[in-house]
Amino acid sequence: MSAIRPPSGLVPAGAESDRAAQLARLLPRARELVERWERSWGPVQGHPALAVDDQRLECAWKELADRIAGHYPFFHPRFAGQMLKPPHPVAAAAYLAAMLVNPNNHALDGGPAASEMERDVVGRLAGMLGLGAGALGHLTSSGTIANLEALWVARELHPERGVLFSEQAHYTHARMCAVLRMPARAVPADAEGRIDLDAADRALAGGDYGTLVLTAGTTGLGAVDRIDEALELRERHGVRLHVDAAYGGFFAVLTDASEPLVPVAPLRAMAQCDSVVVDPHKHGLQPYGCGAVLFADARVGRLYKHESPYTYFTSDALHLGEISLECSRAGAAAAALWLTLEALPPTAEEGLGAVLSAGLRAARELAGRLTASELLELHVAPELDIVTYFPRVDGGAGALSAIDAASTAMLELGATDADPVFLSLLRLDRAALLARHPGLRDDVAAAAVVRSVLMKPEHEPAVPWLAERLEALAAAALRA
Ligand SMILES: *Cc1c(COP(=O)(O)O)cnc(C)c1O
Repeated sequence: MSAIRPPSGLVPAGAESDRAAQLARLLPRARELVERWERSWGPVQGHPALAVDDQRLECAWKELADRIAGHYPFFHPRFAGQMLKPPHPVAAAAYLAAMLVNPNNHALDGGPAASEMERDVVGRLAGMLGLGAGALGHLTSSGTIANLEALWVARELHPERGVLFSEQAHYTHARMCAVLRMPARAVPADAEGRIDLDAADRALAGGDYGTLVLTAGTTGLGAVDRIDEALELRERHGVRLHVDAAYGGFFAVLTDASEPLVPVAPLRAMAQCDSVVVDPHKHGLQPYGCGAVLFADARVGRLYKHESPYTYFTSDALHLGEISLECSRAGAAAAALWLTLEALPPTAEEGLGAVLSAGLRAARELAGRLTASELLELHVAPELDIVTYFPRVDGGAGALSAIDAASTAMLELGATDADPVFLSLLRLDRAALLARHPGLRDDVAAAAVVRSVLMKPEHEPAVPWLAERLEALAAAALRA
């Protein structure tokens, strides 16, 4: 990309982020920490096989820099699209330190200290979700694998029955049900993107489904299913309740806040479900490679029983590999999450709570500005920090095909402008769009709207700038 125009008014003098300073301070400390530890074991004679040719490396390094420069600026408020942001410097430093040691959290032999940190953070996550001391869980490499594991446990406990989820649930539920050869069915969501519990009730009545998946923070709209109202379905139909809180699970820390800004009762009800998945690499400030699955009843651990001839020799204590489908996993992920939760504790008013609240305020502020706009239409009021909207074609009476084209144009114009803004699109079917905007003309089955995930606190001070840029992009898209 050529010559980026400095975003006027975005950053007042002296208000620059201290992220760079935190990285400069912490990354050398990570290296020093490991160097000191390595030296304590006595010297090691090096081996020429590991030497690198300076010139060859220099050349490749330059190419690496070019390749890295090809990314979108996830760290910047300009990036107001997908669910992406860099890890907190604290997480990066802990990850670097532990990664240089490279523990494997499959078994205690592979990483005793990192396994202990994993147990600590899983305990903290269980506490945050209200699951209590009886819960069993572990980190995973992703939310998808964590959900796979919860669905696998569901299948072991209800071998003849399938899985029910909403049409707004993450697409990997259908895929993982196929992997597990479980019958799967999607029931409709309401106009706000939440599962229709009456439809779920009717679908469960036949007894064909043994598990209901609820979503706390859908990937598209950030909608939180009414988990509190779904609890009675477990008793009535004898099903398991699994919550996919990959995106929204961390918002549970705000349920105790004086001004929570989140749907309190549904998030609190996660505590009463059978299993919960949460992704520290989404809202826990972690680098990718960090999901988590938690089970309310630790007795599901018996389902994992297996014998491995090469591991588990060091102690009788439970090995994480004994309660997880994956084998090798980065112990560094546990260390990074551990240090992060020490430095930024999962509490309502400070630490993680302050991080999450800033994004929620940013989303509400942007939604308010979009509601007042003549050029843009808010799609739904954000329940969390995801805002969806589209250009007002024909004064709000446009055809779905024209809205699709104008939303797509906003995305393209934003990415190529000299003062760029990176957005994302969400495809919605006609029923969802018309339920919210009855004036629209229904000429095609679905249309894309624009979606901005405001998951960085840095978005909060940037909202006036962002709203102005979105209006300019909408005006250009409507002209095009
Ligand atoms: C992101 C997401 C997933 C998938 O998690 P990965 O970590 O990307 O594999 C599942 N469910 C929801 C609700 C998500 O937002």
